Amino acid sequence: MASLAAAQVQEVRSITRIERIGAHSHIRGLGLDDALEPRAISQGMVGQKMARKAAGVILQMIREGKIAGRAVLLAGQPGTGKTAIAMGLAQALGPDTPFTSMAGSEIYSLEMSKTEALTQSIRKSIGIRIKEESEIIEGEVVEVMVERSAGGGGARSGRLTLKTTDMETNYDMGTKMIDSLLKEKVQAGDVITIDKATGKINKLGRSFARARDYDATGQQARFVQCPEGELQKRKEVVHTVTLHEVDVINSRTHGFLALFSGDTGEIKSEIREQINSKVAEWREEGKAEMIPGVLFIDEAHMLDIECFSFLNRALESETAPVVIMATNRGITRIRGTNYKSPHGIPLDLLDRMIIVPTTPYSHQELREILNIRCEEEDCQMSADALTVLTRVATETSLRYAIQLITTASLVAKRRKASEVSMEDVKKVYSLFLDEHRSEQFLKEYQDEFMF
Ligand code: ATP
Repeated sequence: MASLAAAQVQEVRSITRIERIGAHSHIRGLGLDDALEPRAISQGMVGQKMARKAAGVILQMIREGKIAGRAVLLAGQPGTGKTAIAMGLAQALGPDTPFTSMAGSEIYSLEMSKTEALTQSIRKSIGIRIKEESEIIEGEVVEVMVERSAGGGGARSGRLTLKTTDMETNYDMGTKMIDSLLKEKVQAGDVITIDKATGKINKLGRSFARARDYDATGQQARFVQCPEGELQKRKEVVHTVTLHEVDVINSRTHGFLALFSGDTGEIKSEIREQINSKVAEWREEGKAEMIPGVLFIDEAHMLDIECFSFLNRALESETAPVVIMATNRGITRIRGTNYKSPHGIPLDLLDRMIIVPTTPYSHQELREILNIRCEEEDCQMSADALTVLTRVATETSLRYAIQLITTASLVAKRRKASEVSMEDVKKVYSLFLDEHRSEQFLKEYQDEFMF
């Protein structure tokens, strides 16, 4: 069992080692200045200034905790940077604020119900910062005494005499501390710290002791560095976890290894209720703090009416994250109904959303984005090749043009050139069809395809 678990973890590790360049890997933030004004080109972001500015306002509201339970809709044509803006927002929020990203179609899985998938995503987007206080004792060891039990041979109890500048204290220790003591091989004269909560003993390195504790005559000084003569210090340990992680860890059927494999299945509602009341207790006692994060749902028009009404209710909860959706649809049918609505989203949900539009890019902006992508993919491209590629982006789509960077760069490598030329771009343009040409092709040859 243990080896199986180890093998699984190993496997996950080796997968993460594969280097991939994601579509948005060049995005490092929203590219805003201190006053939250968008810079023309910054942090991998180009143009789309109004939407980026709006995202900046949302960022500020999230940071101030003012927007939890609200929903934002990024609406615009394909390839206008809706996902890029959401990713930029995630980067700007930093690693301490949970950010979960999913596509609307991901909820249709055989393994769990739609509402369970949404609940898990919501709980992945809420962080809890748990504070723990632990007492750290620091001092020089005067004497160590370990008493062993008569028969078993294991250490049972012991005594450690610690001395600081102005006091000497005895510590009686439990098994945990004794074990740690034996592991560290502490002797009289060592400078150590003891964490009372965990029993962990840390011996300060000899070089440290020498540098600081030798006196002018070369004799080792008989005192230790203990700030303001204090014997005990308090240290605050802070962990940040998501509610979903707490659910999984406490779910007996899964165990924490499920966090590595992602194979968490459905989680019982009793467990969630227990966790909710535990977290509420911790919050009351000042031990924990909630961090509402962001749940990003791309292709939101793929959700159906049940999901929309579930989300509408979930947003009313006191601990809801900020939900950001993106869609490139205009007026379209709401899945699961025969009704049409703007973006395929029910009007009552739309009514509580802040809508941020994205608009098509100018020729120059497209060129800048392509240039940034070339840098990201370590691809040298000649100026005229970039001009052709920009024209391709204008006439087909930005996403298609970005794809051609990788393929053109491979073609250039094959002919051992260090720079992608105009010919390379033209070649891959003719090899790989964009959506429009693919449609033309199908129309011309449709009789020969199977239906
Ligand atoms: P769709 O509606 O088709 O899902 P989208 O609006 O989400 O499209 P993105 O996927 O964000 O579009 O954009 C397409 C590509 O262009 C991505 O690789 C993205 O990182 C890049 N991109 C889009 N806008 C910008 C921008 N303003 N600055 C830099 N890169 C951008």
